[in-house]
Amino acid sequence: MKIIIAGGTGFIGRALVQRLSQAGHAGWIVSRSSAKAPAAAPIGDGSFRVVGWDQLEADPSELAAADAVVNLAGEPISQRWTSAAKKRIRDSRIETASRLGTLLKRAGADPQVLVQASGVNAYGFDETAAFTEESPTTDRDFLSSVVRDWEQAAELIPARRRALLRFGIVLGNGGGALPSMLLPFRAMAGGPVGNGRQWMSWIHLHDLTRLIVHTLENDSLSGPVNTVSPEPVRNEQFGRAAARALGRPYWLIAPALPLKLALGEMSELLLQGQRVLPEKALKSGFRFHFAEIQPALDDLLRQPPH
Ligand code: NDP
Repeated sequence: MKIIIAGGTGFIGRALVQRLSQAGHAGWIVSRSSAKAPAAAPIGDGSFRVVGWDQLEADPSELAAADAVVNLAGEPISQRWTSAAKKRIRDSRIETASRLGTLLKRAGADPQVLVQASGVNAYGFDETAAFTEESPTTDRDFLSSVVRDWEQAAELIPARRRALLRFGIVLGNGGGALPSMLLPFRAMAGGPVGNGRQWMSWIHLHDLTRLIVHTLENDSLSGPVNTVSPEPVRNEQFGRAAARALGRPYWLIAPALPLKLALGEMSELLLQGQRVLPEKALKSGFRFHFAEIQPALDDLLRQPPH
């Protein structure tokens, strides 16, 4: 397959490009900076070429050959949510989807499939409910409203089939949320965050890239696809598993108030969560290599960061 990957230079994109090139796929990594990307992206056998948005805007014709599109691009959410940051987080996602759609249409491309990154934040926060792809979404908090707009913007990207992969917390080395989540444990000060009862729907980076490839290849998957392990955990379970994997104690509560003061509105990501189940992925025959948190963390924490 010839695949366009927007945001392919990031934490998930780099791992995905590696898997896709090993599987014999080829294509383009679209980046705001075509200069930084060759070093950042492990391009495998060299079959993925980094190309700048500006270059494609000057001449998008080569994209006519694209069979598939993966859109991962977006401003990082792990920053203080000032009003300027909120605007960047929302606009970067909507503008990138729109830009990608315009380029593909100008190129006359007719991709078979779009894999669009999204988030489990679509379901809002809840301490008790379990969410499948059938569950209603919301827009009552900042991130759920961004996800709603992001999924709508994906309709601007032409594709015969569209899958909206609602990612949970992606656990991997070398990026994402895990390194900062482990900091207190490494400092012997790990324990529950807030009351420790908030759900964490997570997925190992290895399974995430496998599930993206499965979605590209599997015609039965379209619409929202919960991209999470089948065993979400409460924050307390996560913390105990992290402490065990690192051989560190689990004892010190991180109280909610100082987190709210230090991080502002963004602290809701640490203090609240949602229990999300990957019903469609399982029905489509996908088998997780890391369904449970302890083996996932044991695997990640015994690897050197890369
Ligand atoms: P990264 O931040 O590592 O990478 C995202 C990529 O998006 C970057 O490589 C960058 O590419 C591009 N980008 C960054 N800022 C902007 C901007 N302002 N405008 C346009 N493009 C931008 O993210 P991840 O790989 O961790 O995640 C990929 C996607 O999945 C993101 O959209 C993220 O929100 C979503 N997601 C991730 C989760 C996680 O746990 N990691 C959980 C839920 C959703 P370049 O600089 O080359 O242009």
